[in-house]
Amino acid sequence: MSPGGGSGPMKDCEYSQISTHSSSSPMESPHKKKQAGPQRKWEVFPGRNKFFCNGRIMMARQTGVFYLTVVLILVTSGLFFAFDCPYLSEKITPAIPAIGGILFFFVMGTLLRTSFSDPGVLPRATPDEAADLERQIGNTEDIANGSSSGGYRPPPRTKEVIINGQTVKLKYCFTCKIFRPPRASHCSLCDNCVERFDHHCPWVGNCVGKRNYRFFYMFILSLSFLTVFIFAFVITHVILRSQQTGFLNALKDSPASVLEAVVCFFSVWSIVGLSGFHTYLISSNQTTNEDIKGSWSNKRGKENYNPYSYGNIFTNCCAALCGPLSPSLIDRRGFLQPDTPQLAAPSNGITMYGATQSQSNMVQAILSFSVS
Ligand SMILES: [Zn+2]
Ligand SMILES: [Zn+2]
Repeated sequence: MSPGGGSGPMKDCEYSQISTHSSSSPMESPHKKKQAGPQRKWEVFPGRNKFFCNGRIMMARQTGVFYLTVVLILVTSGLFFAFDCPYLSEKITPAIPAIGGILFFFVMGTLLRTSFSDPGVLPRATPDEAADLERQIGNTEDIANGSSSGGYRPPPRTKEVIINGQTVKLKYCFTCKIFRPPRASHCSLCDNCVERFDHHCPWVGNCVGKRNYRFFYMFILSLSFLTVFIFAFVITHVILRSQQTGFLNALKDSPASVLEAVVCFFSVWSIVGLSGFHTYLISSNQTTNEDIKGSWSNKRGKENYNPYSYGNIFTNCCAALCGPLSPSLIDRRGFLQPDTPQLAAPSNGITMYGATQSQSNMVQAILSFSVS
């Protein structure tokens, strides 16, 4: 079967390993449902995600902290509108509940948009694509090793590309069986590779990546404003009341204000800090992932720079917040076509073996970048 010669048995073993692995993962997913009608792709989605409303809503598997976020925002804002706003509206201006209401709906809208959408998940390779890529990796290995008959060495499984003069390593994902495009990373909680992966945020119950980063940023920024707004006017409310009845009586008269002030006081620091941090990241076009890893910091005296930065703060902000939104690549509401014959493996294999190195490089590039 293998025309490669010397390393034949080893490679056969490698192929069978891959084919058993990949055929079991996408089709025999744990949340496969038994039903008569055509199945949608989300029903057999291989990642650890939750889907609601027939695949329209997509979240991470663990959503407990997300519900805590929603409850905290709803309760704090609800108490503010119910107990502080009537007094403030009468004594100062009705603009206070109006502005508060606009901020509240903006916060909830951006939160739900971040939580319920596809963060930019990269589809896993099909069994055929995975086997093709595996063969190419094997071929490259053979060439690299030459005719040396030394012991089996695992293939390097990284590729290098040059982006704006900076060498960027592309790593092979053993779960998704693809070479990750630049800036993508595999989320261990959701078990997906995510494009321009920023981080997994349990507070929003989703990964933050290429497709929902701007909504995440608008969420934390507007939440900072809402928290400061509520805190400031709750304090104003208590001060105005205490001028009439004394401080202790004011606290007794509006116990809700005390609770709101406590929640706002303890959360405002982290929320404002996070907004500041992400403002810095956006202005330099970095991801949290790159910042934590120190991808673009100078290492051992070596000159290092971020190849994705446009060079000025304004363009970086525009690119992150106003650039076109890329479409979802996983087509989670699309129908499965179980009877569609996949590319015949043997003939495909022969083509690949017969192909010249440049051709197989091209196929390799198409395989890994068709998704980016
Ligand atoms: Zn992956
Ligand atoms: Zn995740």
